[in-house]
Order: sequence, then structure tokens, then C-alpha cells
Amino acid sequence: MESNIDAGLNESDLGAVQRAQGWAQDFVAPRAESWETERRFAREAFDSAGQHRLTGLLVSSADGGEDISVLGLARVLEEIAAVDFAIAFSLVCHNNLAGAVGRGATGTLRESVLPGLVEGSLVGAFLLTEPEVGSDAAAIAVTATTDGSEWVLNGEKAWVTNGTDADVLSVYAQTDSSLGHRGIATFLIDANTSGVIKTPGYELLGGHGLGANSIRFENCRVPAQSLFQPVGDGFRAAMEGIDLARVLVGAMCCGMLRTGLRTASNYVRGRLAFGGRLADLQGVRFKLADVATDLEASRLLTYRAALTLQEGRNAGVEAAHAKKFSTRVTENGIASCMQVMGANGAKRDHPLPRHLAAARLTHYVDGATEIQDVVISRSLLD
Ligand SMILES: Cc1cc2nc3c(=O)[nH]c(=O)nc-3n(C[C@H](O)[C@H](O)[C@H](O)COP(=O)(O)OP(=O)(O)OC[C@H]3O[C@@H](n4cnc5c(N)ncnc54)[C@H](O)[C@@H]3O)c2cc1C
Repeated sequence: MESNIDAGLNESDLGAVQRAQGWAQDFVAPRAESWETERRFAREAFDSAGQHRLTGLLVSSADGGEDISVLGLARVLEEIAAVDFAIAFSLVCHNNLAGAVGRGATGTLRESVLPGLVEGSLVGAFLLTEPEVGSDAAAIAVTATTDGSEWVLNGEKAWVTNGTDADVLSVYAQTDSSLGHRGIATFLIDANTSGVIKTPGYELLGGHGLGANSIRFENCRVPAQSLFQPVGDGFRAAMEGIDLARVLVGAMCCGMLRTGLRTASNYVRGRLAFGGRLADLQGVRFKLADVATDLEASRLLTYRAALTLQEGRNAGVEAAHAKKFSTRVTENGIASCMQVMGANGAKRDHPLPRHLAAARLTHYVDGATEIQDVVISRSLLD
């Protein structure tokens, strides 16, 4: 399946996939467990990703980026998440922002952030979710009001991936609550601006390398040119990339599940019990066969949705199926892989405990599992 997909990639996509694979194996694999145990954002991984040209994947080549295709991006992220989900998700959030800035920002706003985002010297973050508002994103309560030529932001954002170290914040704020989602605008804000207050990273069940935290705005004044997506466009812009984001979660799940299957298969070939290899027990073989079937199905759903997006067609329902299925089978499948490894499955000297925790987190990002069901059932019944 991997090679089938790769046959559809152009040379520049293939180059990015190979760079991602090599970088993930050489740089990320030896360090990922320590980022988790130290519970910190992997800033050095981010810097290194920039050197490997993995931070401007969705930016045009005219602006110094890689201009990668949807299939190529999905394969890049599959390779990185096969080693570590946290750094892969951190890069997704950053790359999406860099791509949006490349497509939409103009003038000094563009000049001040785009080159840094592309080379990875500036870390980007996407701030939509709030402590009291998640799935119902149109209900956000962070406010932006005008004062002379400036905007003033107040309120709190939650679950900011890259938040602990982010330099460029893409902040969704309500400018007039009587307008509902039509009152939402987006601002690009320098994280060092006075009135931006970051909390330390959250204590989570896993995924600490992605540096999720909360960010508060206390009378944070920004110039008029910080307005990135004007009033009325903010909500539409937030939802615009959501199908791609869901497909990419599917691809990252394929990467983690692939590692689960390889790790467990290698283990059961070497471990002896009752006078033979674990790999020769039918109960063990069938458990792994089920995981392999789920992985194949997950890949088919994910890359079908990726191809639909790449062809410029609506992939809303396909992306919802892909995300819902791949997150579910990845969490269950990694647990099965750990089960056939016995108690050694629970040790942190291999990546599966880290992947299991990350697989749980995939159920919430880019629309929780139930929101995928909202999309799917709407397509069936309305
Ligand atoms: C690791 C991680 C990284 C994240 N990174 C970012 C980020 O960078 N930027 C950002 O803005 N956000 C980020 N998020 C937040 C994420 O987008 C939200 O968690 C998600 O939108 C769900 O919101 P919530 O957690 O507040 O759940 P809620 O909206 O409170 O929902 C609670 C439960 O109710 C269910 N539910 C809600 N509505 C319905 C419905 N209509 N029908 C049926 N069930 C429903 C949900 O599915 C969920 O199970 C991140 C989250 C995680 C875990």
C-alpha cells in the first residue's frame, strides 16, 4: 500500500517523504522518549525539522516552501508519526498556519512572519479552542474590540499545540457577539506582545512534546495590520482546512499502528513459551492479523480521502470516516500489539506506550469522534 501511494507522488513529494523518514529515524527516534519523560516541547526537534525543510511544506516554492501535494503531506506525516505523534502533530499545526499565511497574508504582516515560519525559526500556533468552548467553535468568547487604530484582545484560549514555545499566534476572536460566527475574525499576533500570558504546558496522559497549554489575553493591544482574516471570514477560515486536518490525523494513526504491528511481530518471533515461539500460537497470530486488516482499511479510507482532496473535490464525509475509523482502530490495535508482548508490552523501552497515549489524544483533535458521526449521519439522513 505504501509503495502504491508513493507511485502517485511527484519527485518533490518523494524527496520530502524520504527526508521525513530519514529525519524521524535519525533525529526523532533516539530522543522522543526523553521529550515525553521530561514533559516538554521538543524545540530542538522543531529547529532540526526546519533544517530538513519540513516546516514550509504547504508554502509555495516562490516563497521558499515545498508546495507539497495532499498525498505527499499525508505520507510525510505518516512517516514522522510512526516514530512520534507529538512532533508530527506539532508540525501539522505549524505547517497549516504557514500555508494559510502564504496564501492569505499581505504586506508587512506577511513579510514579518512568513520567512521565519517557512525556515522554522518562528513556531506557529492555531488558537480556536477555549476553556469553555471546544466542538461548538462558533461560540468562542475571546473578544477583539477596536480602540483608535488598534485592536484590543481579552479572554483565554485553551489546548494550544506548540503554545509553550509559539512565536506566531493565529487567534480567533469575536468582534461582535450579536453577529454570532459572522463576527469572528483572525489575528496574527507576536507571542511577545504585552498582554499575552502563557501557562506552562499541560500535564497530560501523553503527547507532551507538542507543548499544549493555555494562553490568556489581558488588554492585549495589537496594530490594525494584525488583522489576518477579516470580520466574517474567521470562522469560515477555521473550518476551511478541517477536512485536510482530519485526513492527516488518519495518516498519523496509520504510522503509529504500523509501528505497533512491526514491534509486536518482531517480539513474538523471538519470544518462547510452551516449547515454541509466541509467533506460532494461533491466538497470537490471529490477534495480529486483525490489527493488519484494520491498518489496511485505515490506509484505504485515509488515502482515498486524501486523493479526493487532492483532486479538488469535497471530501467532508470521506475525511470523517477516515478519522473516525483510524483513531478507533489505532487505539485498539496498539493495545492488542502490547497484549501479545505480555508485560514487556507495557515497558517504555519501545514506543508502544507512547503511541497508545497519543492514540487516545487523536480522538479529540480536529473534531472529536462524535463530531465525525455528526458529519456522517448528516450525509445519511438529512
Ligand atoms: C492534543 C490536543 C491538541 C489540540 N490542539 C489544538 C490546537 O492547536 N488548537 C485548538 O484550537 N484546539 C486544539 N485542541 C482542542 C480540540 O480541538 C478540542 O478538544 C475539540 O475541538 C473538542 O472540544 P472539547 O475537548 O472542548 O470537547 P467538548 O466540545 O466539550 O465535547 C465534549 C464531548 O461531547 C461530545 N460532543 C460535543 N458536541 C457534540 C454533538 N453535537 N453531538 C454529539 N456529541 C458531541 C464531544 O465529541 C466530546 O466527546 C487540541 C486538543 C488536544 C487533545
